[in-house]
Amino acid sequence: MTFTSPLLRAAGRFMSPGGGDGKLTILTYHRVLPEPDALLNRDQIDATKFATHMAAIADCFTVLSLPQALERLSAGTLPPRAVALTFDDGYQDNFTVALPILQRHRLTATFFVCTGYLNDGLMFNDIVTEALRRSTKSDLDLSWLGLGVQALSDMQGRRELAFKILGAVKYLPFTERELACARIWDMADPGQHRPRLMMTDDQVRELAAQGMTIGAHTHTHPILNQVSLEAAREDVEKNRRLLTELIGETPTIFAYPNGRPICDYGYQHVQLIKDLGFSAAVSTAWGIATKACDPYQLPRFAPWDTNPRHFIMRLLKNAVKGQRPTVAPRMASPDD
Ligand SMILES: [Zn+2]
Repeated sequence: MTFTSPLLRAAGRFMSPGGGDGKLTILTYHRVLPEPDALLNRDQIDATKFATHMAAIADCFTVLSLPQALERLSAGTLPPRAVALTFDDGYQDNFTVALPILQRHRLTATFFVCTGYLNDGLMFNDIVTEALRRSTKSDLDLSWLGLGVQALSDMQGRRELAFKILGAVKYLPFTERELACARIWDMADPGQHRPRLMMTDDQVRELAAQGMTIGAHTHTHPILNQVSLEAAREDVEKNRRLLTELIGETPTIFAYPNGRPICDYGYQHVQLIKDLGFSAAVSTAWGIATKACDPYQLPRFAPWDTNPRHFIMRLLKNAVKGQRPTVAPRMASPDD
C-alpha cells in the first residue's frame, strides 16, 4: 500500500537532500507494544502505529544501517531522504513485535542494548509501572517520597500515579533510585512473578544474526551526570565487553542513557566515549544529523503520529528546522 504522493517525495528530496548537504534522520524507538497499554504514556508506540510508520518510511525514505549512514554522511554520499532506525534499552517486544515488521519491509535498524537487564531484569520505570499494574492494594503511603498517601484506582489513576512516582525518583542518585523502586515494588505487593520485558541473550544474538546492528547503551542505564566519571566508564566498558561476548563483535556506536545533553550527560562523557574508541554516539536531543554535527552527539527524532502523511511531514519539517540540535558544550581546557 502506498501512502505518499510523488509531490511528498519531491518535497522530501528538497527538504532532506543527499550528497554533500546530506541530512540524516535518526529515529528513536523504545518499546513497540503488541497492543495499546492504558498504563503507559500517550506517546507509546504499538504494533499498528509502528507498522504504519515503517510502511510510510519504506515508501518515502531510504533506510540505511546507522554505521553505513554515518560513513556516507561524512563521505558526502548520503542518498536523499536518508533515515536510520534505532531502538533503545533492549526491550523484548523489539524482537517479538518490531523485528517481523522491519523484516516485512526489508528494513535494518540499530538496537542500543543495556546488558544489566537482559533476561529477567526490569528497568526502574518498569518496576514502578508493573508494580502499580498488579497491585491489589487500595492505596500506597508514599510520604517518604514526598507524595503522601496515594489511592490505587483504575488504570487511568494508576497511570497518573506512575507518572508522579517516576518524576520523583528519576533523578535520584542511582543507588537511591534502585532502592526506592524496590521499596515501591514491595509496598505494592504485586506478587512474586515479575514479567519478562527485556530481551534474552539469545534474542540479542539472533538480532545480530539477522543483520541488525547492536549498539552500546551502558550496563545499568545510569544518568551519567548522576554518577562519577569512573563509575560511568566502568558501566560503559562492562556493557561493551558483555555485548562483544554475546554477539562476537564489538559495538562501535553508543547511545547516552536518557540522552538529554547537559541535563543527562556532559562533555566529559562525550570525551569518555571518544577515548573508549567508539566511532559515534547519539543523544535524545531532537534534530537532524548533518556533517556539521558532533559525531559523538548526534541528534535523533521521535514523532508518534498515527497518520502516515503527518508522520512524513513531521520528519521533513525536522530535517529543515532541526539543524541546530542542543549539544553538551565543549569545556574550555587549559590548553585552549
Ligand atoms: Zn535508554
